[in-house]
Amino acid sequence: IVARDHHPDDTVIDVKGIPVGGRTVQVIAGPCSVETSEQMNTAARMVRESGCRLMRGGAYKPRTSPYSFQGHGERGLELLRESADTQQLPVVTELMDVRTLDKFLELGVEVIQIGTRNMQNFDLLKEVGRINVPVILKRGFASTISEWLMSAEYIAAGGNHNIIFCERGVRTFETAYRNMLDVTAIPFLKKETHLPVIVDPSHAGGKAWLVPALSKAAVAAGADGLLVEMHPTPCDAWCDADQALTPDELKTLMGELGAIARAI
Ligand code: PEP
Ligand code: MN
Repeated sequence: IVARDHHPDDTVIDVKGIPVGGRTVQVIAGPCSVETSEQMNTAARMVRESGCRLMRGGAYKPRTSPYSFQGHGERGLELLRESADTQQLPVVTELMDVRTLDKFLELGVEVIQIGTRNMQNFDLLKEVGRINVPVILKRGFASTISEWLMSAEYIAAGGNHNIIFCERGVRTFETAYRNMLDVTAIPFLKKETHLPVIVDPSHAGGKAWLVPALSKAAVAAGADGLLVEMHPTPCDAWCDADQALTPDELKTLMGELGAIARAI
């Protein structure tokens, strides 16, 4: 179902009237995790002012250590909803467990994110395949393109064809930065599938100063959008502080991306 052979034209996914895919570049921005109502309201205003049309924020966080902040859970989802609504922004947030799906649906989460660690959680994929909410399927950090396509097929096979692929860097021999952004995956995947392909430069580079270069490379390589971490005050972030852009950096990046998108 996800193969280009099955559907020669690019699929455009409609997120509350905002097109993802086709001839647009959508930037989804916001903090790694939902922290406080003040942080979220400021972030939502900054996302809107920078020209981004969708907001991200994690309420359920897949942390390497069980002692790290795990996210506020349901309360986090509510704070994300409230802050995004003040700016009429659709939200993107990660689902880790089928048991919390009802709350996502109750709050009208517009895009459900499946994180890198759950790309092959087949029961979770089957469950989001049964609904019609758009899904961002992140690439497993050690997954091949064909495994990634098959994971998308799990979602599509259940009837949900609203799938957005997200390249977020893969683990290699290199330790100088967090992950290696697989730029090659962008044109490759766009040849293999009709579905939109976006890029997360934040979890790829792991450093805020790398994010503009990786974002521009992704758009130049044909990405349909970006998923970028931004925090009102990055040094205070509870999670992934090193890779969060400031609101001003996001605004600057948005201007630069516009020029690249028009040139290609
Ligand atoms: C995230 O986007 O919040 C996240 C945890 O990303 P990943 O699953 O790519 O690590
Ligand atoms: Mn993060």
